[in-house]
Amino acid sequence: MLRKVILGFGISLDGYIARRNGDLDFLAIDKKRERDEAKLEKMINLVRHRGCRQQFILDYFGEVSDTDCGVCDVCLKKKKDQQQVGKESVLSETIKELLKTEELNLQDLIGKIKKTDQELIISTIRHMLDSGELEYNVAGNLRLKK
Ligand SMILES: [Zn+2]
Repeated sequence: MLRKVILGFGISLDGYIARRNGDLDFLAIDKKRERDEAKLEKMINLVRHRGCRQQFILDYFGEVSDTDCGVCDVCLKKKKDQQQVGKESVLSETIKELLKTEELNLQDLIGKIKKTDQELIISTIRHMLDSGELEYNVAGNLRLKK
């Protein structure tokens, strides 16, 4: 499908080349197609690139930089994820402390944690369940996993 798009885009410009020479210049058409494919490949690489966008672009222009820009979408997401991990780590200690003395249902546990948003509490509990730090007892209450 990708190739069809490239071919479709190339046809109008290929037509220009053909009219100019009065005959089809297949070599020029092939070269143009190769350039278009190379450009598209670079665009795809930029979209798929997992690192800093600015570094990718600098690299594209042959400049070397090992410092992340801190403001592109990738850098901002990385920063947000790190902050989230930090907040969850602090919160998981609070949850462990609360569940040391009693097993609680989700609502009661949330009610005992002050000054924190519910979404963060729930995602922290979910991660603690996933990692095996917490489990539900038969009554559906959360407890520390032994
Ligand atoms: Zn960046």
